[in-house]
Order: sequence, then C-alpha cells, then structure tokens
Amino acid sequence: MGDLKGKTALVTGSSRGIGRAIAQRLAQDGALVAVHYGSNDTAAKETAESITGAGGQAVVIGAELGIPGDAEALFAAFDAELAAYGAEPGLDILVNNAALNFPGRIDQVTPEEFDRTLAVNTKAPLFIAQHGLRRMRDGGRIINVSSAVTSTAHPSQIAYSIAKGGLDTLTLALAKELGDRGITVNTLAPGWVETDVTAVRRSTPEGRAALAAYSVFNRIGKPADIADAAAFLASDDSRWITGQRIDVTGGSLL
Ligand code: NAP
Repeated sequence: MGDLKGKTALVTGSSRGIGRAIAQRLAQDGALVAVHYGSNDTAAKETAESITGAGGQAVVIGAELGIPGDAEALFAAFDAELAAYGAEPGLDILVNNAALNFPGRIDQVTPEEFDRTLAVNTKAPLFIAQHGLRRMRDGGRIINVSSAVTSTAHPSQIAYSIAKGGLDTLTLALAKELGDRGITVNTLAPGWVETDVTAVRRSTPEGRAALAAYSVFNRIGKPADIADAAAFLASDDSRWITGQRIDVTGGSLL
C-alpha cells in the first residue's frame, strides 16, 4: 500500500508482539509511528530501532495504562515526542492494541483482576480515543484490537472476554459518532498468534500443534498476519468500511 506518507500513527503496546508488527508495517507504509510501551522501554526502543533501521520514522512514548490519568499521560508524552522530533502536531491513525489477560473461570476470577482487565483493555482505549480525537485530523482511522473470544464462548477467560466485548461495542458507537469527520473505526479480532502471550502453550510440539489446528491453514498466526490487516484498515483503501469487526483468525471459527 505505502500510502501513509505524511500521516502520524500511535500504536499502543507496540513494544512487543502484534503491536510491534503493526508499528513496523505502518512505518513501512510511510507513517511516522509513536511506539508506545507500558514498562518495557528496552523492547520499545528495539521496535523503534527496527523501524528507523529500515528507513522509517518512529518516536517512543511510555505510559502505564489502567491507572488514573493514563490517557492524559500518554498524550502528554505523545505531544512532547512529536515536538522534539520536529513533526507537525496531530494524529491520523490510532491503534488501541495494548491489553492484558488474567485467565480464569467464574469461580476463579477476583474483583481486582476484573477491574484491572477492564481498566487496561476497555477503559483505557475509550479515554485514549477521547483524547486522541482532540488531535485527530478528519479522515483519520481508529483500529481496536479485540479477540476471537468475543465470537464464541470462552469461559476460561471470562474477564478478558467481557473486556474485549466492551471494546467491540466501543467500535460500533465511535464509528457512528465519527462518520461526519470521515473517520473510520474498526475492530480486528485475532485468534492464536505467536507472541509472548502464547509462548507457554507453544513451548511443546503438542501445544503448538493444538494451537495450529484451530486455523483452517493449520498454523499459528504470526504478528504480521494481523499487521497486514491493520495496514489495510489504516489505508485509504478501507475508506468505505466502518463499524466492522474483522476476523483475523485464519478461519479458526469456520
Ligand atoms: P503482548 O505480546 O503481551 O504485548 C502486550 C503489549 O501491551 C506490550 O507492548 C505491553 O507493554 C503493552 N501493555 C500491556 N499492559 C499494559 C499496561 N497496563 N500499560 C501499558 N502497556 C501495556 O500482547 P500480544 O499478544 O501482542 O497482543 C496484542 C493485542 O492482541 C492485545 O489486544 C491482545 O488482547 C490481542 N490478541 C492477542 C492474541 C494472541 O494470541 N497473542 C489473540 C487475540 C487477541 P510492555 O512491553 O511495556 O509490557
């Protein structure tokens, strides 16, 4: 696609995993990318260096999500880093990707884990969108990274599933709200992907095979599989698509 020259993107949780791949892909397509992390600044710098090493543009911003004032802190860092970089203020593409997961069933989940999951996975994206929209130029893009767990029942991840369900609903509401600004809002819903989150499950041949068997292609998703779909949603090619939840599971739910 390569049509994001002059655009500025913010990808939350792009120090590692799927977020890193999305940041790299958007930068490859020409965007200046703000690489966000929560605590792993070393990994975030590695993401940024991989982008600049390939001739792209990146700044790094740190902000813990899920605590009071998180969105304000994130955008204070975003504004400051853009200014220090000499870039125009403003935002074109917001990717709400950062998330955490405390697996647990109804008899295991604690109020603290539930609150933390909702705070990071649902509340933070909402208020990041609120603050991001004050900076977003017309014709912008919001991409929320949800999960296949909102398509079918996943009782072993009840808090995470509820939180991602809320994120899907945020997509719907914002898409309706922002049409008059030409801003599209869509959800990407991955299945199993090769990131730190799935490292333990992938650590044995049997575990790898079990995850691969979910997809009709009999392999585990790669971060780039998700990033390529994000690049489409970030591009002008997706201008007539909004309020949608796009399954990026390699056919795992067929
Ligand atoms: P990951 O490898 O665990 O990376 C998580 C990213 O989010 C990191 O950059 C991390 O920052 C950041 N983050 C987490 N909690 C944070 C907090 N409280 N404050 C600030 N940043 C925080 O995750 P992933 O597997 O790439 O997942 C990315 C997205 O895809 C998530 O929304 C996830 O729910 C979704 N997803 C993943 C899978 C899968 O199989 N991997 C499947 C379906 C959906 P630090 O590096 O600083 O910790």
